[in-house]
Amino acid sequence: MIIAATDLDRTLVHSARAAGPVVPESVVCLERRGDVPTAMLTPRTAADLVTLDRHATWVPATARTVAEYRRLDLPSRLGVAPRFAVCAGGGVLLVDGEPDASWAREVRRRLAVSAPPAEVARRLGTARDADGCFLVARRAQVRLDGLAAWCAERGWRVDVDRAKVHVLPVALTKSAAVAEVRRRTGAAHLLAAGDSPLDADLLAAADAGIQPVDGRLHASGWRADHVAVTTGSGLAAGEEIAAWLVRGLRPT
Ligand SMILES: [Mg+2]
Repeated sequence: MIIAATDLDRTLVHSARAAGPVVPESVVCLERRGDVPTAMLTPRTAADLVTLDRHATWVPATARTVAEYRRLDLPSRLGVAPRFAVCAGGGVLLVDGEPDASWAREVRRRLAVSAPPAEVARRLGTARDADGCFLVARRAQVRLDGLAAWCAERGWRVDVDRAKVHVLPVALTKSAAVAEVRRRTGAAHLLAAGDSPLDADLLAAADAGIQPVDGRLHASGWRADHVAVTTGSGLAAGEEIAAWLVRGLRPT
């Protein structure tokens, strides 16, 4: 049995801004803000995800909160209802669409070694709480100098992207939640895909993985022998990644 654990945003689904040089005429839109798509994929990617879900345990593994993940509405828009999904960067495990209580207890136990979120939120100034698991702030509103060192002393880590600053307890990882799914399902093989530094632990833990060439992780210089890199970017990379995962279902 195979688990395919994948990040969503900028890995399989893309906003209009991240869609890349060529946007095909027909796309499947999962989310929009006003008239602007914030999560879309090509019909071919959508079809491959259906295949993946049918023949493996597809585990979406995202930093989205539960509400943000549910907004994508995979069951009605893609026709797939993944049995397991990882939200809030590993802090929430959805089983059949509902938060798993025993994983929530385990996360609380693991996060107890880090400083309380309220202390970190005060340092950040304005920060949004993501399902009680980590903090998100607008990059422009955060004093970044010295932040990583300050957080490291308190058991937290910092990831800065184009617009946002994510601050997470060090024990909060997608790979830990996916390992729990692996334990429960007894899956022998783990495939993974992701684009950002928050996906590095998941890719490292996989038997084989893939990252998009236009991802922040790739731009940071992160490479691993068992992790392939797409040739295309944006929606085309999403297509490549989904096809790569489907190919990985076949025993070699
Ligand atoms: Mg991503």
